[in-house]
Amino acid sequence: MQPNLDAMRRVGIILALFFATISYAEVYTPEEVPNPKSQGQEYYVSNPDGLLSDSTVIWVNGCAARLEQETEVELCVVALESIGDEDAFDFAYELFQRWGIGQKGKNTGVLILFAGESHDLRIMTGTGIEGVLTDGICSKIMHEEMFPSFREGNYDMGICLGVLAIYDVCTDGETPEELQAVRSVTNRGRYGEEEEEEWLGWLVLEAIIIGGAILLVIGLVVGAWINSIKRCPKCHKRKGHEIRRETLAYATYDYEGKARVTYKCKNCGHEFTLEERIPKLVHISNPSGSSGGGWSSGGGSWGGGSWGGGSTSGGGAGGKW
Ligand SMILES: [Zn+2]
Repeated sequence: MQPNLDAMRRVGIILALFFATISYAEVYTPEEVPNPKSQGQEYYVSNPDGLLSDSTVIWVNGCAARLEQETEVELCVVALESIGDEDAFDFAYELFQRWGIGQKGKNTGVLILFAGESHDLRIMTGTGIEGVLTDGICSKIMHEEMFPSFREGNYDMGICLGVLAIYDVCTDGETPEELQAVRSVTNRGRYGEEEEEEWLGWLVLEAIIIGGAILLVIGLVVGAWINSIKRCPKCHKRKGHEIRRETLAYATYDYEGKARVTYKCKNCGHEFTLEERIPKLVHISNPSGSSGGGWSSGGGSWGGGSWGGGSTSGGGAGGKW
């Protein structure tokens, strides 16, 4: 009798675990949402439930990196299946402040957060960007660009169009063409009459999203490379290559460092030195996920793994699709 009971109990536990794993959609609290910056500085999307496709995540990461480089706007996208009974505004607000999205002191953060279960969507703006990305504009972007796709269950398209619209507003309509390309397929995808045509539209969309992301990454790398070659003060050609670097002051978590860099011109052979800033050190995340709360540090945007340290007063727009 005894062993039999034991076996039944074991089967019961296994069954319980099995059903728990298949029926349990994780309900997140703001503290539990995985911070994309723990993967590295070039990550802007938290997608723990896989609501967004990989290609969309790559595309948004590229977009956000370029946007930050050009405008200091720090864009964050959070896609969750469930936030439980928590109010979407409160959730977004707490997450925004906790992570410190946007440049410190400039408060140029933008957070797009949605929850699949409750159909909540929220665009939240930092106090420094409210004047450009007004509540009215956020509401228009949400209702006109994002909701139509969300209602069809197409989060990928909705997020792409929303990010694109925000990019457009922040750069005063200077969105690069390789990003605009996503928009041209929308209508084919949405209004395609035949199934086959629609499928083809999606294939083209995937290709454009991936192609755009690759072009962005190439642009960023080439930009960094060009930036490392300096203009020669003697012959005024951009031919100065680094030959020596000495640190004058080491960077700390609180202060930028300084380096003296010697360049040699490949055109005329002239050597010249420039003093350069060394970005502040940033706290690298703890992969075990302890809530040490080290995220608010740092003001430097590149080379670390942290949001800028900005804050919000709750501007933006929200609603249910
Ligand atoms: Zn020269």
